[in-house]
Amino acid sequence: MVLAELGGKLRDSLRKLHTHSGHVTQSHLKDLLGDISRALIESDVNVKLVMELRNNVNDKVQTLIDEDEEKDSSKNSDADRRASQVSKHVQKVVVEELVQLLQPQRKPYVMKRGKANVVLFVGLQGAGKTTTIAKFANYYQRRGWKTAMVCADTFRAGAFDQLKQNATKLRVPFYGSYTQADPVAIAEEGVDQFCKEGYEVIIVDTSGRHRQEAGLLDEMAEIADAVAPDNTVLVMDATQGQAVFDQASAFSNVVDVGSVIITKLDGHAKGGGALSAVAATESPIIFLGSGEHFDDLDPFNAQSFVSKLLGFGDVRGLMEAMNGQTDKKTQEEMMEKFSKGEFTLRDMYSQFQRVMNMGPMSKVMGMMPGMPEYLIPKNGDDQSTSRLKKFMYMMDSMTDAELDGKVDFITDKNADHVKSRIRRIAAGSGTHPKEVMMLLQVYKQFEGMVSKMGKSGMIGKDAQAKQ
Ligand code: GDP
Repeated sequence: MVLAELGGKLRDSLRKLHTHSGHVTQSHLKDLLGDISRALIESDVNVKLVMELRNNVNDKVQTLIDEDEEKDSSKNSDADRRASQVSKHVQKVVVEELVQLLQPQRKPYVMKRGKANVVLFVGLQGAGKTTTIAKFANYYQRRGWKTAMVCADTFRAGAFDQLKQNATKLRVPFYGSYTQADPVAIAEEGVDQFCKEGYEVIIVDTSGRHRQEAGLLDEMAEIADAVAPDNTVLVMDATQGQAVFDQASAFSNVVDVGSVIITKLDGHAKGGGALSAVAATESPIIFLGSGEHFDDLDPFNAQSFVSKLLGFGDVRGLMEAMNGQTDKKTQEEMMEKFSKGEFTLRDMYSQFQRVMNMGPMSKVMGMMPGMPEYLIPKNGDDQSTSRLKKFMYMMDSMTDAELDGKVDFITDKNADHVKSRIRRIAAGSGTHPKEVMMLLQVYKQFEGMVSKMGKSGMIGKDAQAKQ
């Protein structure tokens, strides 16, 4: 998974906070901030930004901890509750600051229907620009936008062929030339033509370049002048580490970078460098590239990303994916419940049911909080669909009381009445009691996660309103 190592380290540091049974003291905070800073720097996040994050968290939680330290835990009956409130508050602030790190002030450009949206792509050679353009075209075309591509890369031999090949596969019209050597002229002509023909998303590819190549940077600026893009997208390679920060600054100095797409987060990239490069451009990340196929492009949302990074799952993404599957009222009711940390077997059943209608499975399953790795499909969707179905048959064999959380399968798991219920459910669904136990284990994981998220303020109205 993306940045899995960083996520693990951040989770561990936050978990330590909860293990302090008494107060969260200055020294705990110092340890936590030290751990978090180290984890971020090791993941290539820009050092200056890490220091800022550290100071911000420190400033925001200082007073609370000071107040807490003044109280004597042995005499104060509220001490435990307070300590846990303090640690939750610290956690919330850390989450907010991580989101802030990834979310600059500038809002992403919003594509407008029924008019030409010219999107200029820039980036270093090899960053994945041409591949990303194809994914981007595919993304919009599949959502009903009239999409076209222009190849203004006359620098790299074969660039036009590569774009043409992708465009043909996607059945997206394209414009380019084997003979015209002036990229500015090609860009202008191509954009003009597609504007006249009523295209809504007109994507312009420019030559990939190295920072040192001043001539090529000038050319890029000229193309930008000629086509007056509505949005300029900088494509950055996550495997480039800290270097990306400087590269991003170099591009921002020449063109008005409106948004960022980070590629190759599927590999072994530490990713922190690319992620913190948003600070250099002061522009939002709009997509993450997660593979070489046209479908491997995921819309980026800072809150969801941090939530996933910290192992809370991506409830927001899940809710968005469910759009169309549930009406708004049901969604709000569900969020309301989850934000209180309430989650029954019946809730899990309806989540599974929606997941089955959503596809692609691997992405959706990855968003579900607490979803164990082994349930997330790796090669094709069939296996995990049948696992989910099996789980649903088991839940079909449960009584209302069991589904609505009136039977405590977890605490009473060794009690005779629970054992006999498990046997009954297995028999009713044609499964083995061990499989029912596995379902309950999965439920326990889900429930724990939703409860943790609800309490940490990661879901519910506040978390949504921040978007
Ligand atoms: P360009 O020079 O910036 O146009 O780069 P290309 O689009 O030609 O991509 C360079 C290489 O990176 C190709 O082999 C792509 O298949 C690969 N690539 C692009 N995006 C991704 C991604 O998100 N994940 C992975 N694993 N590979 C990618």
